[in-house]
Amino acid sequence: TVSHLYKLRKGGGPGNFPGAGVKGTSHESFVPSTFLQNFYSPQSAGFEQKEGLVPWKLSCLHRAFTDGDISGGLLIDVGSGPTLYQVLSGCEVFSKVLLTDFLEVNRQELKSWLQGEGANFDWTPFIKYVCELEGPSEWTEKAARLREVVSDVLPIDVHRAQPMAPDALPSEGADCLVSCFCLESASPDLDTFTKALGHISKLLRPGGHLLLIGALQESFYLGGPVKIPEQGFTLIRLEVYTSPQYITDTDDISDARGCFFVKAKKD
Ligand code: SAM
Repeated sequence: TVSHLYKLRKGGGPGNFPGAGVKGTSHESFVPSTFLQNFYSPQSAGFEQKEGLVPWKLSCLHRAFTDGDISGGLLIDVGSGPTLYQVLSGCEVFSKVLLTDFLEVNRQELKSWLQGEGANFDWTPFIKYVCELEGPSEWTEKAARLREVVSDVLPIDVHRAQPMAPDALPSEGADCLVSCFCLESASPDLDTFTKALGHISKLLRPGGHLLLIGALQESFYLGGPVKIPEQGFTLIRLEVYTSPQYITDTDDISDARGCFFVKAKKD
């Protein structure tokens, strides 16, 4: 099953799983700056540690978008929250990117960064890291590219049969979906998760790609095979992240200590 992380980890660390931030607080009290500080501040991101979760996520996404099999015009990020790291590789492949979230505060946070307003969260280390993965490139150009190709930040509700406004995307659907730590954060059980996956899959054209990152329960990868619901998708790649610090960690955060990355193609 897909797990849920209930508590915010105190102090932060390179293996923090963003799903925890939402489940442990109600959506009404979601504070983008706190979420960003807990999970994406320099000390939480762990760029220096080879085993950090953020470098792992960025590398999975980089590889997925540079395999050569993903193409098209429109990329949608489902449940963006207040974060942008998940489209840093995709923004080089797609000419149009839509960010989405359930909460207005998160959509505002993203819009504010895109418009270059105020003192926003600093995504520079993330942008620089992806630029290094891509080879010599100027990080300021990627930031400019991102601001150019993200055409909107729109509302979404993965629990609705039609998650986005009908006129928000072309009738054939998007060419690619990315979604990180959203479905399991928003779903109380596997059945709801599976239904939500079915809902967002309607946003994707047949033959389009789905890149899904989420939190896993320990038993998923230590005790048995990983089971990601596959409905109408062909799995291309499944990768699992475990942080050694969590295998020995005895605090009461949760026994969910891993992440999955899935690359799949819609049938
Ligand atoms: N994608 C970001 C990341 O990787 O850190 C944010 C993940 S955050 C843990 C989960 C996000 O799911 C939140 O931004 C929350 O607002 C959003 N969310 C909650 N319920 C949702 C729903 N019903 N439909 C779409 N998004 C939802």
